[in-house]
Amino acid sequence: MSGNRRLVVLKFGGTSVGSPEGRQALAERIQDYKNRDIDCVIVVSAMGRKGDPYATDTLLGLVENLPKESFEMDALASVGEIISSVVVAATLREYGVAARALSGPAAGIYATDTPQHAAVTEIHTQGIVNALKAGETPVVCGFQGISDCGSTVTLGRGGSDTTACALGVALKADAVEIYSDVDGVFSADPRIVMDAVVLKEIRADELFQMAKTGSKVVHAPAAELALEGGVSLFVKNTYNDSEGTHVVDIDAYRPKTVATAVVGCRDVTRFIVKLGAQEGTLNHLKAQTQIYQKLAACNISLDMFTPADTKLMFTVSADQTDATRDCLASLAYNFDVSVDLAKITVVGAGMHGIPGVMSRIATALFVHEIDMYQAADSHTTISVLVDDSRGDDAVRALHDAFCLREGE
Ligand code: ADP
Ligand code: MG
Repeated sequence: MSGNRRLVVLKFGGTSVGSPEGRQALAERIQDYKNRDIDCVIVVSAMGRKGDPYATDTLLGLVENLPKESFEMDALASVGEIISSVVVAATLREYGVAARALSGPAAGIYATDTPQHAAVTEIHTQGIVNALKAGETPVVCGFQGISDCGSTVTLGRGGSDTTACALGVALKADAVEIYSDVDGVFSADPRIVMDAVVLKEIRADELFQMAKTGSKVVHAPAAELALEGGVSLFVKNTYNDSEGTHVVDIDAYRPKTVATAVVGCRDVTRFIVKLGAQEGTLNHLKAQTQIYQKLAACNISLDMFTPADTKLMFTVSADQTDATRDCLASLAYNFDVSVDLAKITVVGAGMHGIPGVMSRIATALFVHEIDMYQAADSHTTISVLVDDSRGDDAVRALHDAFCLREGE
């Protein structure tokens, strides 16, 4: 976009911009890129984590009982990135790098009219291009955009990753780099599995599955943009120069192992609904259809759904437990609810067509006496439902069972 100069979009999360050390590391990195004649567009998240003064959760805690999915909630949630962009732009100037803070709307990021989980619809890059032409590094507020009706909307937790990837596509950037406080994408959450390894490469479909099944390492729509092939994506550490993880095209890399990563997703609730009809009858299908339709109308997203004999089992995220309960009660079905469950997913593009993967999972869980309530699979994943209290043990057991440890 600026002649033959290289352009990189760099996203820095709360763990990077929240401390002076993080902002210093950020500024030194940008200085280094500028010295190598590489143009940078920076995307920032709010500073720090809950409890830090300007973190998103702290801001949302300022007002009790804000209506859920309201524009007011998004207005409050988006302030953290505004503060962060101004602070980061000022830090860059201290390091001799000309910089310009841009809100999501000023950066031309348009999004759907759906507060709290808006999707980017289009990007008008003029504001960013103007800054670059003026020799300034744009510091764009992640996680936010402007809706058709002119309100600021937010893109869902982790949404700054998506801002960065969407900008990467719109600006035809040479690369998008997502920075946090760990060395890249690990074979499991390094806070849970001490000997997890950094993956030098991960296929875009695997990263997408990790995000979709509950890993917060990269926001799912960002991974989807990498999967669609529009962006060359890297996940790196703000605080060191380790190579990080390169997210590669699905045609460019064939995994050598059955599994690549294990993901744990907490706060899962399971419903078992009594359908009141026998398998093989039209009423059996009618009851299921009625339930799916009603839950869809209430915007409740289901997972692990399995009709079994006279029952229908499915899971929802814990925050949708009450809404699901109300929906089923309004249809007058009897149901049981189990809360405090966790979904553990083994992800691997190499597992497709390989026999014995489920047996390996069951054996590992059996050895550790972790009961499995349900299972589900796709081309590149197998998920199991276990008690939340055993979730971390299950992640470690499966990480071992698939030999994902350091040195294996
Ligand atoms: P940021 O605020 O920078 O976006 P996040 O908290 O969203 O940071 O993501 C980075 C964190 O994700 C790391 O600190 C790490 O503990 C956690 N994490 C969970 N699973 C993984 C994984 N498989 N690989 C890398 N990091 C992971
Ligand atoms: Mg994140």
